[in-house]
Amino acid sequence: MKFTVIVFGCQMNYSDTARIKAVLMHCGWSYVEMIDEADVVIFDTCSVRQKSEDKVTGKLMNLDPSKKVWITGCMIQHNLRNMVIKRKTQKKSIKGLMGVGNFVGTVETIAPDVIGLTNLEIEERRPKPSMESNVVYINHAFNPMFHTLHTTYPHVELFFRIDDTGFLPLMMQRIGYDVHFDGELTNEYTAIIPSSTSMHAATSQISAFIPISTGCSQFCAFCIVPYARGVEKYLDVDQIVAEAKHHIDHGIQEITLLGQIVNKHPRFVEICQRILDLPGSLQWLRYTSPYPTFYDRWLLDLHASDPRMCPHIHMPLQSGSDRILKKMFRGYTSEQFREFVDQIRAIEASHGRKISITSDVIVGFCDETEEDFQQTLDLVEYARFDMIYIGKYSTRPGTYAARRYEDDVSQAVKDERRERLNIILKKISTDNNHGEIGKTKKVLITKKVRQWDSKAVGQYDYSGYTEDMKHITFHDQKNPSEGGILQVGQFVDVLVTGGESFMLRGEVVG
Ligand code: SF4
Repeated sequence: MKFTVIVFGCQMNYSDTARIKAVLMHCGWSYVEMIDEADVVIFDTCSVRQKSEDKVTGKLMNLDPSKKVWITGCMIQHNLRNMVIKRKTQKKSIKGLMGVGNFVGTVETIAPDVIGLTNLEIEERRPKPSMESNVVYINHAFNPMFHTLHTTYPHVELFFRIDDTGFLPLMMQRIGYDVHFDGELTNEYTAIIPSSTSMHAATSQISAFIPISTGCSQFCAFCIVPYARGVEKYLDVDQIVAEAKHHIDHGIQEITLLGQIVNKHPRFVEICQRILDLPGSLQWLRYTSPYPTFYDRWLLDLHASDPRMCPHIHMPLQSGSDRILKKMFRGYTSEQFREFVDQIRAIEASHGRKISITSDVIVGFCDETEEDFQQTLDLVEYARFDMIYIGKYSTRPGTYAARRYEDDVSQAVKDERRERLNIILKKISTDNNHGEIGKTKKVLITKKVRQWDSKAVGQYDYSGYTEDMKHITFHDQKNPSEGGILQVGQFVDVLVTGGESFMLRGEVVG
């Protein structure tokens, strides 16, 4: 059988998808890139925005109905969670819901024998029967969305929680596939070591994403992640290091550690240090996304002292107004954020390492006034972010904000604020990038790009990203021949010769 996976959303989903691939390949199935060639199409979904869920249904509508569809990821877990909340919220607070749904315990299924495993079967097949389980096993029968989609699209064959990826062979047998699984069944899907986890097929032999925690317990008012992914669970340090070693032994040179609040792992610095200490040719170690309140001196010291610890920190701000930050339940003030920016900038003064900072900002959150927004602009000017992912607030059903706040900032005001922020950001980015001219940076090539200059027909430019996560396009003057000699996935030193908003330009040196 041939399968393909359509991935929506963040790096965590790419990492999860790689684990799905590993399990299916152990079942003797072949992965194909093209949907046309696949017998089974798997959607690894995202539910951060309603738009992400709409994209899945859009894709389903256009898919050849002869192909079987499996759906996993945040979308199904979020919808499961919504149903649980709906049923329970009359009686209990959110805190009281921790024992149900995606979080812990075993879910009582409505009709466990429709498809999937009954609780008894799970108990019988659990690798360590004596072990206390904190994993929830669900099947289609429990998920109302499965019935809705399956009725409209009968080729939707399977819903499975990403946490249950290790049990996929059993589910496949259950729905009628002749499966011979040569791996080990596990109820810890994060223990499955994938062969490659990169977002870009082109750099999959060079870059890998490794999750070190799953879920989130911050419960920011606007965010669906804690409901879709459950509360935080930290992965075992030895397991994380073993996965990193596996990748490095197979030639991986860039590792990105993943977690919703990645630096909240109680042994985060130790994880970084142990990976940096592994023998091999690791060039770059990254992590995303950190949270300001969980930084400590040790982590900043590591950035200052080890050149393989990439000089880039993606630090979500969301708002520069203390009033709005409080409504969002972010747990820090604008002043604390400024102090944190100061600490990062101090590394340049003390160790000569300039750290690029990027961020996320939501404009038009419930009740955001012009004054609140102005405070965001002030903080953006102060922090001099190289890039901001700007989100216009929209209500996400199931979140605290959806239940308790009014989405009262008009679309016109949201658009206008986004535009004003974007103008400032472009200017800062241009200034920052002008400051990079004359520096030589190590670049990972992600693409060969045919030059658009008609006088240079047949010559190639390249594009890639730097250790501080800036996009760069560059030229190899010495080898301008057709096709170029540099390869995607190769590291190369590039002299920065130009800079504009969100982009550097350069020439290969050496
Ligand atoms: S920290 Fe907040 S925004 Fe980030 S995943 Fe957790 S709840 Fe969502």
